Amino acid sequence: MNMTDEIFSLIDAEAARQLDTLMLIPSENYASRAVREAAGSILCNKYSEGYPGRRYYEGNEIIDQIETETTERAKKIFGVPYANVQPYSGSPANSEILFALAVPGSTIMGLKLASGGHLTHGHPNVTFSGKYYRSVQFGLTVDGQIDYEEMREKALLEKPSVIILGTTAHPFMLDWQKAREIADEVGAYLVADISHIAGLIIAGVHPSPVSYAHVIMTTTHKTLRGPRGAMILVTDAGLKKDSELPKKIDMAVIPGMQGGPHNHTTAAIGIALGEAATAEFTAYGKQIVANARALANALKKKGIQLVGGGTQNHLIVMDFASTGEGQGVLVAKAMNAAGLVANFNTVPSDTSPFYPSGVRIGTPAVTTRGMKETEMEQIADWIAQVVNHVKHIHVPTEKKERAAFVQQFAWDVKMDAFLLNIAKEVRALCAQFPVEREV
Ligand SMILES: *Cc1c(COP(=O)(O)O)cnc(C)c1O
Repeated sequence: MNMTDEIFSLIDAEAARQLDTLMLIPSENYASRAVREAAGSILCNKYSEGYPGRRYYEGNEIIDQIETETTERAKKIFGVPYANVQPYSGSPANSEILFALAVPGSTIMGLKLASGGHLTHGHPNVTFSGKYYRSVQFGLTVDGQIDYEEMREKALLEKPSVIILGTTAHPFMLDWQKAREIADEVGAYLVADISHIAGLIIAGVHPSPVSYAHVIMTTTHKTLRGPRGAMILVTDAGLKKDSELPKKIDMAVIPGMQGGPHNHTTAAIGIALGEAATAEFTAYGKQIVANARALANALKKKGIQLVGGGTQNHLIVMDFASTGEGQGVLVAKAMNAAGLVANFNTVPSDTSPFYPSGVRIGTPAVTTRGMKETEMEQIADWIAQVVNHVKHIHVPTEKKERAAFVQQFAWDVKMDAFLLNIAKEVRALCAQFPVEREV
């Protein structure tokens, strides 16, 4: 096999994995063939540092049209006066926003990682946002809601220049109005990070931050179902607070943090935005939420505890803390062996981020496959079978023994006949809901 075929055979194997298993990770999705073709197109050959009409390279007449059209689509679908579609992905986009709005060493605020925030929202010690800014973080109330009281008290005390509100593992809707009131009390910019929920906002099944946030960031590859990428939006409220915001964001993206834009990605984002502007996409967004609700109810009927008791959006966090700390790791690995691909996640009672007690699941990808409430009940049944199958196994309390134990467990479940049998049933369901397999 030559070296190209060697990689392509791996892509082919991954395509089979994506086809034959249930993609329950809530930040993943199946992009359309059109999106993937644009992302794999010859546009990757072109350098275009700068913005339409003001590039540092010649030959950008066509690229300018692609970027302008994509930018216009982004502005139209969200109802904002400005968009920058060049950020390479969500994490660089958040760094660019901070670079634009806050001088190094100034105070920023965001939701704790363990409470469902993102690394880039000021996670201390190991991230750009936590090392180069003075990061103050808020968390959740005992019932799993964003603690707006804590946000307010800390904001009044610490006077942040930026407050970021956005989540990666939160099953409830966000209260943009409340966050804006707090930001206004201290004169901070409110940044809405809607990476997970952009598609739900477009479909009208989650409140939009457009009337409240000054700046909005979204990735394009989650519920929006585009290529891996991101965009930064400035709202009318943002322009009113600071008319220089568009210029500040543009400057932070390039020359601040990036070089040449990924034109193939820009074109694919444009296509995804075109797809998202259709009635089919609205129906898709509604079905994502209906499916999540059906899945949550079916899981509860099987006796599985959920963080916050259910969901209002596309995701669910199952809470196995009562079985033992670290149980989420075991359940996620056993589910994977059964063809149910998810990720372990912290729950409010967890003390270790490495051995959390929860598993995060979501419905965006299975809904793209065309699955509905009936299939959610079947999925809940499989998940409950897996949970029961491993509930007598626990991560050792002795910290030194944990890593080796989990490694052995991950190995054992791959050969577990009970789990492999579920994987076979999962494959049969997947065959009824095909996705395009071409690489
Ligand atoms: C996914 C996500 C990001 C980061 O996006 P990447 O493309 O993985 O860098 C940032 N914020 C939130 C809320 C996210 O869900």
